[in-house]
Amino acid sequence: MSVPHADLRIDAGWIVPVRPTASVLANHSLLVRDGRIAALLPTLAADGWSVAEHVRLPDHVLIPGLVNLHTHAAMNLLRGYADDLPLMTWLSEHIWPAEGRHVSPAFVRDGTRLACLEMLKGGVTCFNDMYFFPEATAEAAVEAGIRIAAGLIVVEAPTPYAADPDDYLAKGLAARDAWRDHALVQFCLAPHAPYTVGDRALEKIVTYAAQLDLPIHMHVHETEDEIRHSLEHHGVRPLARLRALGVLGPNLTAVHAVHLNDEEIDSLAAHGCHVAHCPASNLKLASGFAPVARLLAAGINVGVFGDAPGRSPGQGRQRRSRHAAGPTGPGNGYPGQRPGFGTGGTHRLTGNRQAGRRGGGQSGIGGHPALLRPHLPAGIQRGTGTGGPCLGEWPGRIGGRPQRPLGRSRNPGPCPCLAGTYFGWTIKKRGMRPAFPA
Ligand SMILES: [Zn+2]
Repeated sequence: MSVPHADLRIDAGWIVPVRPTASVLANHSLLVRDGRIAALLPTLAADGWSVAEHVRLPDHVLIPGLVNLHTHAAMNLLRGYADDLPLMTWLSEHIWPAEGRHVSPAFVRDGTRLACLEMLKGGVTCFNDMYFFPEATAEAAVEAGIRIAAGLIVVEAPTPYAADPDDYLAKGLAARDAWRDHALVQFCLAPHAPYTVGDRALEKIVTYAAQLDLPIHMHVHETEDEIRHSLEHHGVRPLARLRALGVLGPNLTAVHAVHLNDEEIDSLAAHGCHVAHCPASNLKLASGFAPVARLLAAGINVGVFGDAPGRSPGQGRQRRSRHAAGPTGPGNGYPGQRPGFGTGGTHRLTGNRQAGRRGGGQSGIGGHPALLRPHLPAGIQRGTGTGGPCLGEWPGRIGGRPQRPLGRSRNPGPCPCLAGTYFGWTIKKRGMRPAFPA
């Protein structure tokens, strides 16, 4: 009988495959062959395989790579620039003029390189970006070995990248043609926001999205000012305008979605839209609290993201997830309920609930391995033991009782395995006690 072969075997103390939900496999091994998961087995059974590389992680939890659902990665170079201002002041008086002076392919490449390092360190193996010169973003992502959905940005205003919406689209589609066959690179259409993109451009974007089967990725209902601007200029709220233009649909990821009434939540749900949630950005800019619990209750898929570094402190996903699990907020509508632990649990907020649709993610970021399951690509984040702020330091309360962090994070100081803490916490809430070390 021939011995099965794998290129890589990882033995982990615990493996969280995501499906079935809330399951933790102790003393299991993951086997990878040709970049895909060949098997997920009890470690004893894996001894029957021949392997080229054998990694032992007895103190680690192995999880799938996380998805950062919305970034402006290159803006890492603008981190800390013009802090603590309202969104429109920050954009129109500081960021947009600075971008006009400095943005170039080299700027985008260098900023994205930096962001990729930060994201990989935080467990992110796929990000959904929106910025100028998307080919430079893709180049940096491929160099770092991280998956990207590169947003083909469109705004009305001229920038160093393009002169008008047609120019943005032409350049973006040319970048897509150049990179479309790369295994790590996918594209989406990225009209910036309802207040920066006109009707004619949005109609074209909807047509391209349908013809090319591309996701759309757009800031939506981020601030009250945005709603006011739309009422003044279009006579309707932004989502009503987008619905009339055909933008709403299962390929739309609505970024922020902070200011929503019940009718708009129903509309997002009815159209199968997804929401990208960044409480860190919303808190920093005092934009408000997204009604995440109501979105989840309506059946909307919600993921978290890092946004631009100038708007939130970093690109690491655990930090975003911690914020998502923290504030309930006056706009939430469900006082006391922490959205990160609602129905469907944390996996919905991490993007790890993705399964199947469009051959990949529910959020339209296809092909990302959000599950540890045979035949899926092996996008695995290894805990590095490099330390960092421990999620367990957050004084969480579930069901009125303070929750002690699990595993190593009981010790004060840096947590050697952020992912382990995070998933351990979720599992404990569900009444399951995996065999984490005391
Ligand atoms: Zn953004």
